[in-house]
Amino acid sequence: MRTPTPAERATFVPWSEVSYEPPYDIEADWVLMSTCAYRCAYCFWDVDALGAKISTPATVDRLASFFEGTGLVWLLHLTGGEPFMYPGFLRLCQSLTRRHYISINTNADSPRIRAFTETVDPEHVDFVHCGVHEEQRALKSGRGRFIENVMLFKNAGFPVFASVVMDPRLFPTFGEMWQEYADRGVTLIPKALRGPYEGRTYPRDYTDDQRRLFLAYARRAADHYATQFAARKEPPSVNPFMDGPLFLHDRPDYRGVMCGAGHRFVRIMPDAAIYRCGPADLIGNVAEGWFERREDPSVCVDKECPYFCEKYKIT
Ligand code: SF4
Ligand code: SF4
Repeated sequence: MRTPTPAERATFVPWSEVSYEPPYDIEADWVLMSTCAYRCAYCFWDVDALGAKISTPATVDRLASFFEGTGLVWLLHLTGGEPFMYPGFLRLCQSLTRRHYISINTNADSPRIRAFTETVDPEHVDFVHCGVHEEQRALKSGRGRFIENVMLFKNAGFPVFASVVMDPRLFPTFGEMWQEYADRGVTLIPKALRGPYEGRTYPRDYTDDQRRLFLAYARRAADHYATQFAARKEPPSVNPFMDGPLFLHDRPDYRGVMCGAGHRFVRIMPDAAIYRCGPADLIGNVAEGWFERREDPSVCVDKECPYFCEKYKIT
């Protein structure tokens, strides 16, 4: 196997090698809603879910105050759908970041991003992950707004990085596309497609040539992001630089391993229900104000987002 370059080592640190004690007690993958203005062919939400009217389970103030009541410091990964479309999203972020930490997964298309960068404390934002979603971007606002918004985050001191889901249709002209973004100041990290797509299953059905190109551009992106990632005390929970080494051949299955989910990690769904991880194990509700945190790690029985599995599995 090829020895990783220093830049690759800086951008992909296995969680088993991270000894940092973070300033938060527990992390939540908070799916605020399924709604999004984009219609990416590879999205795990179906068209009805993407077009769903957003219904909030409680006021933003009530949602935010729940976390105070737990007596814990939280790292809340805000995702969707497109989280910037959530009613009161800026107020939610402003409230949460007074004591807690947030990270955001966004398509960076929202006009609210400028106000976010002007009113939210970057010290309490662990990262902003901007997904380019090229096909939909071409149909919507084009590249300009994405680049402008990534730059707004960057210039305001937010730890921002950008990725591109490697839709098989992108490969033939990917080099030109990658360079055009890079020339305008945004370096894209290739991210593996996961799940069924046009009769194939990814990442398993990437060809060898596609994998080679993926890794070549992941290496170029690592050169760009090495200093930024090396300055972090721990990797971002959702780190597209993990995809090359870990997720480019198959989607791993963690069932049967011990995991800190329920104690160090939970998932919050759009109706505010808090799950240990998958949908069968309800342990709280943000809107109803209750949370039965698990005392100890337990065996994984779910197949969810592998970034969190890598972080919270106990080896
Ligand atoms: S931007 Fe994200 S949430 Fe929206 S359709 Fe695309 S993959 Fe789905
Ligand atoms: S290993 Fe992954 S899927 Fe399993 S409980 Fe932990 S976080 Fe959830």
